[in-house]
Amino acid sequence: MSLYDRGFFHLKGRCKGLATTRPFKMKIPPVKTEREDFNMIFFFPVILNDLFKSGRDYKWPKPCSCTRCSGIRLWGHGYVMACFDGFNAPLILKRYRCPDCGCIIRLRPKGYLKRFQASIDVIRSSIQSKVEKSKWIVGISRSRQQHWFKSLIKRIKAYLTDSWQQGILAGFDLFLKSGQIPVSRSI
Ligand SMILES: [Zn+2]
Repeated sequence: MSLYDRGFFHLKGRCKGLATTRPFKMKIPPVKTEREDFNMIFFFPVILNDLFKSGRDYKWPKPCSCTRCSGIRLWGHGYVMACFDGFNAPLILKRYRCPDCGCIIRLRPKGYLKRFQASIDVIRSSIQSKVEKSKWIVGISRSRQQHWFKSLIKRIKAYLTDSWQQGILAGFDLFLKSGQIPVSRSI
């Protein structure tokens, strides 16, 4: 299981790969800080339009258990608002709390990175367009796309070093697969 998948919980009642030509040793840093260990994110499949229309009435999934302590008593812990591209108002996202260890579990739509309004697919398309056509994609501000691109380059230099030969887009995929946010500003 990759680190990216670690934030996933199994749903009640329901519960990608990188091709490289040779093994590459990557200096990937620890994913979570101590503080973040008390704040898990549960990525769940959702149509954002449904979430937008339903608000708090949305039928939220509930994790079977806390992945930190395996406790099964998860309590509702209010809601938080988060902005997503394509919506002129924040969407409401549910939280749970594990009373056994105090962990806060935040629900977030699958396909979106933590703290990013654009979907992973959109961000990846932007990187791909810049790499292959030297053009930004339409519909997203140039400054945001520049931010993504510069952050990715900085991250590749920091963790994959100059010996990385697979290209920028493959670097994006590798970070994602490894549980890192490829376009995060923080290194
Ligand atoms: Zn717990």
